[in-house]
Amino acid sequence: MQREYTARRIEVEGIVQGVGFRPFVYQLAIFHNLKGEVLNTSAGVSIHVEGIHENIESFSRDLSDKKPLLARVTSVSNYPEKLKNFADFSIIKSKIMELRSALISPDVSICDDCIKELFAPQDRRFQYPFINCTNCGPRYTIIGDIPYDRPNTSMKNFRMCAKCQAEYDDPGNRRFHAQPNACHDCGPSLTLYDNNRKMIDDKNTVATAAGLLKQGLIVAIKGLGGFHLAADAENDKAVYTLRKKKLREEKPFAIMSFDMERIKRFAVVEPDEEILLSSYRRPIVLLKKKEPNSLSLEVSPRNKYFGTMLPYTPLHYLLLRHDFTALVMTSGNRSEEPISIDNEDAFNRFSDIADFYLTHNRDIYLRSDDSITKRTAGATRFIRRSRGYVPEPVFLSRKIDPVLACGAEMKNTICITRDNKAFLSQHIGDLENLSTLDFFELTIRHMKRILDVDPEIVACDLHPDYLSTKYALSLKNVKVVRVQHHHAHIAGCMAENMAEGPVIGLSFDGTGYGEDGKIWGGEILIAEKQRFTRAAHISYIPMPGSVAAIREPWRMAASYLYDAFGEEIWGLDLPVLKEKSEDKIRFIIGMITKKINSPETSSLGRLFDGISAILGIRQHVCFEGQAAMELEMLSEENSGGKYDYEWISDDNVYKILTAPIIKGVVSDLHNGITPSVIGGKFHGTVICLYTELCKMIRKDTDIEQIALSGGAFQNSILLSGMIKSLEENRFKVYSHKFVPSNDGGISLGQAMIAGTDI
Ligand code: ZN
Ligand code: ZN
Ligand code: FE
Repeated sequence: MQREYTARRIEVEGIVQGVGFRPFVYQLAIFHNLKGEVLNTSAGVSIHVEGIHENIESFSRDLSDKKPLLARVTSVSNYPEKLKNFADFSIIKSKIMELRSALISPDVSICDDCIKELFAPQDRRFQYPFINCTNCGPRYTIIGDIPYDRPNTSMKNFRMCAKCQAEYDDPGNRRFHAQPNACHDCGPSLTLYDNNRKMIDDKNTVATAAGLLKQGLIVAIKGLGGFHLAADAENDKAVYTLRKKKLREEKPFAIMSFDMERIKRFAVVEPDEEILLSSYRRPIVLLKKKEPNSLSLEVSPRNKYFGTMLPYTPLHYLLLRHDFTALVMTSGNRSEEPISIDNEDAFNRFSDIADFYLTHNRDIYLRSDDSITKRTAGATRFIRRSRGYVPEPVFLSRKIDPVLACGAEMKNTICITRDNKAFLSQHIGDLENLSTLDFFELTIRHMKRILDVDPEIVACDLHPDYLSTKYALSLKNVKVVRVQHHHAHIAGCMAENMAEGPVIGLSFDGTGYGEDGKIWGGEILIAEKQRFTRAAHISYIPMPGSVAAIREPWRMAASYLYDAFGEEIWGLDLPVLKEKSEDKIRFIIGMITKKINSPETSSLGRLFDGISAILGIRQHVCFEGQAAMELEMLSEENSGGKYDYEWISDDNVYKILTAPIIKGVVSDLHNGITPSVIGGKFHGTVICLYTELCKMIRKDTDIEQIALSGGAFQNSILLSGMIKSLEENRFKVYSHKFVPSNDGGISLGQAMIAGTDI
């Protein structure tokens, strides 16, 4: 019976296309002496094997045990088949089937084999900037449609030469069916232009560009998911000029270094950070600066970290090996617009920024910024999830209806669900200008196409003015579900952790439209998937000037101080009161007392801003969250001690009073305690008070699991301190490890809340 000659069909689903899966199957079939065929389908990979039963069994086992590095198998289904008496095993052409559910791989950094060939003078691809194989290269950014075959990618414009075609056709070759396969003779090529679009060089482009960067010039470089603006990170004048021209006052620039040895010259690299840096996803990792270091102060001013990455394309390797400690490689955009991907667009947009353009003729179909990560409390935390990760899905605990979730306003991403998978888009950006809105709509169309779903349920924020909300409301023939911002934050955290509710949800955030029309952000919610109640929040405080109070934290400082001290505020000796004239402060307090343009907020982010201003750290910010971030950087972790805190219970909701904390901070300042100790004490106070509240709520509700979400959890002291304190008190704590805790993760939560189980 065991030696019976039989046939079987095996359907494999998951990330199995463009990752060398078919050649792997081919070689495995030969090894196990099986005949038949394998092909890509829109659902994944379909295999027909014939041979001795026990060989088929071992083949089947090896299929999941020995799969290629980049493959991610989500299901393997076996079906009995009729014998077709195949003479051999072969790989056949793709079929377009009804169900187009194959998962597309993210873009993958150049592999070690390709790096070797890139630098081997005898290799036919020596120094070829677009070298790739089935284990590496572009994917998501060059796909126009599925299945993932060359005619559906931006490589369709390049006809392979005989040598490349032979590799592509040879199942034993590393480039077998590598869709972007190319070489010097047949593939994409580089061109260097000056600022007047005059071609400077098309031979030694990289060496010439490196020379220009060495001279302190700015070069726009077309990469994998878009353009970068590059400058020598050791050259003050170059980095300063880039900052001025890009209208980017203080936000840190990302940098790229050739190898770990060079990174270690200017940054401290922990072992887990080293693994993350060199993973094939190649994100930007926030690394602690080594002081002193040789990089310009302008790279990352007033910041403890360098956002650092290793090269991920062959072009980066060719460029970086030219004796640079690091290059600034910042997204090629102006201020908050989407990153530029098109040569023509880049020439127009960077005409007064870039001195030169190093560009190529392989089109980018879908832009994708670099991902930004940080290691905190033993896990990778996303600040931005994009290139290298998208479109890999978040796996859900069960199947839900197809939903399109439109995300929030800032750091927007969208999310589409299919079965038990949630596909988050790449980082889209702040939906405040037309070009970002265009990109938002294009991404929705693109993702619907490659996922082959057209959801009838559309989720969006409760905020009536978000452009993403307006977009959702403008759609015809769909059911729109409005989701409260912080409920979405918590639901996203529950989803990626496959946690069943109810949970105690701590949503520490800067902003978010509340059900009462006020601005929430220091919330404890009792949350389930489809409903929530508010258990606690910071008591409301006016934001004098509304959004102006976000840009100018001193306004928040005045608001908290006035709330705590009333008219006694004039007797206080504080940096913030000295820096601003008494007239200005009286004017702000007038707005508060007369309730003019002063919406109320329960935001924890604003409280951090206010403390930062009171301590004299930041009165004005150049980007959202800067004041709170600088407070974190300055704060001494575990400085010990904490301020008195207090809450009142009102209608079964605990309301945290800020006045006792503010009074404690002011008293310490008057006693000459340093801002770094006060900052540490303030962090400790927040951790302690929310832990106490969670314990009270546990008593009231018996809920023992806690989900942490919201932009304020980008603060590492807060995140690791909160996890530690809650775990010490025997709570089960869930935090974000797959999507950002900031608004980049909102779309996932919206989708979860809007989609019902199927
Ligand atoms: Zn490779
Ligand atoms: Zn070729
Ligand atoms: Fe938020």
